[in-house]
Amino acid sequence: MRTIFLVSICFLVAVRLPGQSRTERWRFLPPSTAVSDDPRRVPLPPGPPGPAGTIVLRGGRIFDGTGAAAREGTLVINGNKIGSILPPGSTNWPADAKVYDVAGKTVIPGLIDLHSHLTYADPQDPRPVAASMSDAALRGAEHLRYFIESGITSVRDVAAKGDAPFRLKQWVRQNRIPGPRVFPAGQLITGKGGHGDEGVAIVPPADDDIYVALGPEGWREAVREQFKKGADLIKIASEFSSDEVAAAVAEAHDLGLKVTCDCETFYIQRAVEAGVDMIEHPLPRTDQTIQLMAEKHVEADPTLETYDMIFDLVGGYFGSTSRRFAFSKQAIFDVAVKMKKAGIKMGIGTDLVGNRFRFLPEPYIRELKLFVKLGYTNSEVLQIATKTNAELLDMGDKLGTLEPGKLADVTVVDGKPDADLDDLAKVSLVIRDGYLQVLDGRVYQARHIPLPMPASRSGQN
Ligand SMILES: [Zn+2]
Repeated sequence: MRTIFLVSICFLVAVRLPGQSRTERWRFLPPSTAVSDDPRRVPLPPGPPGPAGTIVLRGGRIFDGTGAAAREGTLVINGNKIGSILPPGSTNWPADAKVYDVAGKTVIPGLIDLHSHLTYADPQDPRPVAASMSDAALRGAEHLRYFIESGITSVRDVAAKGDAPFRLKQWVRQNRIPGPRVFPAGQLITGKGGHGDEGVAIVPPADDDIYVALGPEGWREAVREQFKKGADLIKIASEFSSDEVAAAVAEAHDLGLKVTCDCETFYIQRAVEAGVDMIEHPLPRTDQTIQLMAEKHVEADPTLETYDMIFDLVGGYFGSTSRRFAFSKQAIFDVAVKMKKAGIKMGIGTDLVGNRFRFLPEPYIRELKLFVKLGYTNSEVLQIATKTNAELLDMGDKLGTLEPGKLADVTVVDGKPDADLDDLAKVSLVIRDGYLQVLDGRVYQARHIPLPMPASRSGQN
């Protein structure tokens, strides 16, 4: 009896890692069970995923994202996994491998963006177009092209319409459209009149990118609704009561999902106390809140560049009940400075709402440069955009570095981005999940292979 009790305790400890309040139910599976390549870790039938064959990126500089200095080498990809990194001069690969010469270029782990909105409409779009689910899915496909051609092989989508981000995720996974992996939160969960719910709704609630919840049970229900659709994380926004945010966090953590919060003023403190995993944006918060974030290992996605852009384009957040702070670039930058000083783990996200994705790759590169301004080196920032971002995505064991056994998400850049971040604008080749996605700087799509027609019955034409 006592032995059984001890074994049960060990088992529960095993599914809840140190410093982590989430359960990881997938750890109940035998380690040999294949699971989906997302935070949901759903059991999969055995069988090789991804493409067959070997791809070789020959003779480039390898920046592997582990913290090691870039070095000359050749990257070998088997199926959808990193196979090996060979020394220069080695040709240890199968004769039928597809070989790309990347001499003079740098091979880096695929970049990650922690904050996208794939289905957001252009502000110029007429209301019926903006509300259309069909148009939303097509807008998403267009966004994906901009991201993948910018060398970004994963996006964490933190609010999009209806089931569109989940369908986009599947179409990319099945290699039916080019693009980065999509890790969707589904709808943004907020209180009535809260961030995202200011003004008149123009689409049916199920199709909207906002879910308005009321009361602790309502917030639990909202989390389950996103989980049901396939959410890889939960995104919430103020305003909420302490009971509401605590219920949402508890429900998400039981399901094994992280919670990130777009909140402001004292709601940030309330969210941190409730146990959220991450805070979006550089909105001002007290020193006490920053200290509590550090103590509770709450992460941050400061999205500095998009705030700079808002101040440059329109001067501030006007007419909103959910954005109350000094509209100053310096004030928000100072928040990030304090978070770095407190040791808070921060990642790279762009939050390119409306049509701002059309500026890519520049806003992504500027976000990295703002991190340099915070005091990180170029190499450290590149590591944050890959390795750290993968960890923040809950995918650190599968993505973020070029190491044998990791998923084959690889970006090849003309130049040395670890020395000059502007070289990230010169993406020449991208591989996602072992599939070639970008060649010579533009989306690559292999010609379709027609299915053989069925044989005619009884010899008739
Ligand atoms: Zn956003």
